[in-house]
Amino acid sequence: MQYSAEKVRSEFDQTESLCPVCLALVDAFLIVRDGRVIMEKTCEVHGKFDVLISSDADYYRWALKFNKPGTMPKSFGTASKSGCPYDCGLCPEHKQHTCLGIIEVTESCNMRCPTCFANSSVGKSLELGQVESMLDAFVRYEGNPEVVQFSGGEPSIHPQIIQMIRAARARNIKIVMLNTNGTRIARDEGFVQDLSELNVTVYLQFDGFKKSTSETLRGEDARETKRSALENLLKHNVNTVLACTVQRGVNEDEYGAVVDYAFRNQHVKGVVFQPTFYAGRHPDFDPLDRVTLPDVVKGVAAQSSFGLLQSDFFPIPCCSPNCSTATYVYVDGGNATPLTRVIDHEDYMNYFSNRALPDTEYFTKRTSLETLYSASAVPGSEKILMSYCTACDVLLDLGELAQKVKMILVQPFMDSWNFDVRRVTKCCVGEITPDCKIIPFCAYNNVYRGPRT
Ligand code: SF4
Ligand code: SF4
Ligand code: SF4
Repeated sequence: MQYSAEKVRSEFDQTESLCPVCLALVDAFLIVRDGRVIMEKTCEVHGKFDVLISSDADYYRWALKFNKPGTMPKSFGTASKSGCPYDCGLCPEHKQHTCLGIIEVTESCNMRCPTCFANSSVGKSLELGQVESMLDAFVRYEGNPEVVQFSGGEPSIHPQIIQMIRAARARNIKIVMLNTNGTRIARDEGFVQDLSELNVTVYLQFDGFKKSTSETLRGEDARETKRSALENLLKHNVNTVLACTVQRGVNEDEYGAVVDYAFRNQHVKGVVFQPTFYAGRHPDFDPLDRVTLPDVVKGVAAQSSFGLLQSDFFPIPCCSPNCSTATYVYVDGGNATPLTRVIDHEDYMNYFSNRALPDTEYFTKRTSLETLYSASAVPGSEKILMSYCTACDVLLDLGELAQKVKMILVQPFMDSWNFDVRRVTKCCVGEITPDCKIIPFCAYNNVYRGPRT
């Protein structure tokens, strides 16, 4: 596809990154080579590294136009002393508040995936009181935080996970998500009933339908577990999002099948594709041959039977616009209408254009699009459905919309290889730590996450 040719950055750009061996901060240069964006960086001790950042330089440059000015948090957790990324807390140099807070309630897991950025096996768990303090800190930093995600390890095996979800609800946090491999959901219907009553959105690890995909990414054939989990989630009408890890040469041929499944099942509100990032436990890889954001977009467009196009995806502007991209699609039986075909996103979201005399209607539409394209956007939530109606200028029944509006999000997190300091300073996905700091997710995984105990 051809993106509009306006060039907002030179082809030669400079940032800072990490040495993937010793994690020292190093200068990094972004260059365009054969239509791809490559990061070149040199560590004085460990030498030179070339890393693929994006397989599509035109898309990369086009996306930079949609960089929304940041909104500051109510308060910061640390001072700026050593420089980014070593002051996380958030520190006053950070350029965005936290749209989505993550709490890892346990290091333990009931699976042992060969690919696991959290490197989970057996480890420590948090007490309920600790989680309550972390939630209180989130409220202090954000004022009215909107979304918290309980994660791990495997959060569902924590004996107090339901009390933790209730503690988030008691603090008026509107959306609570559970990031889970689905093992307990497949086996414990009482637990699923509790999740339904508490209106929890389940992020279900779901990497595809092939046996080989499951065996490579999860170390076992987990397909029957996923099938049972999805059945229970449907039975108890739990808002479900499929979280699909994508690995080069493993399941790139399953984009279309996963999207089509989500589009055909009313309780599945969306899919999040997360290309493997090489933190924690992971296989060997070639840093110049990895799945990047445009690869997923192109794969979905080529494989889905619902006629999606690459141009139906739009960058999420609250963080760095090359951090993630999304599309909303209205699905009615076999027909799919992406939101990009209803409203010209670029017209409303280009933060560099000097639009003459913007009016109230313009700002209302822009706000609704910014709500939809945000790291705090949770598919199927009332806020998202209402913003969808505003963006489209229609008033539809929210119950019906909840079954028909689907979101696809592509979210390639950074590892020490492709780490870009400029991107992490505008990160809006934060790990809330037991000492009540907020650490941007990509900084946390590369710089702060200690070895498992
Ligand atoms: S990532 Fe943000 S909070 Fe962390 S050191 Fe950099 S600017 Fe500060
Ligand atoms: S990837 Fe998730 S399910 Fe797999 S071992 Fe890690 S925490 Fe457990
Ligand atoms: S988590 Fe990483 S990829 Fe996502 S917004 Fe933050 S810096 Fe960007």
